[in-house]
Amino acid sequence: MKSVRVPLFLQQAVMRTLRQKLTHASHFLQQRFPEPHITYQQRGTIAGSARLQDWEIRLNPVLLIENQQVFIDEVIPHELAHLLVYHQFGQVDPHGKEWRFIMETIFAVPANRTHPFPVHSVRSKTFTYYCRCQQHELTIRQHNKVLRGKNCYVCRQCGEKLTLLEST
Ligand SMILES: [Zn+2]
Ligand SMILES: [Zn+2]
Repeated sequence: MKSVRVPLFLQQAVMRTLRQKLTHASHFLQQRFPEPHITYQQRGTIAGSARLQDWEIRLNPVLLIENQQVFIDEVIPHELAHLLVYHQFGQVDPHGKEWRFIMETIFAVPANRTHPFPVHSVRSKTFTYYCRCQQHELTIRQHNKVLRGKNCYVCRQCGEKLTLLEST
């Protein structure tokens, strides 16, 4: 899969927001926290994820580039709060009262569980094939195997080989 390059100004904006939220948390909880490691490897329709043991936040580079500061303001506190909850309370309900407390009281942001960003550009694409009796959705991986002649798929219902439905 080709990797997406996040422009430097966005990476800097990420770090600015991260450090600012971390400072709020340190003041509020009277404790120092190590700076989480940020990576841009989150795939699919997920905006970000927190890897608790690794003290790492993974961000979706495509959704970050598309939504910029709005993304940062939404996702950084959300994922950082997951890390802090884990640090302070261990394995508890991920979006439970501890997480809501950090979001609302310490970070002063709404405790949204899901992100509001449009996902059409990151939704995985499928390829439509057909046989005598129905249409079938093949993944990119399956489709590539067909293209390379490595595999052909047969309908379980009618036994016919699947043919790509060409878009018109
Ligand atoms: Zn979450
Ligand atoms: Zn069929």
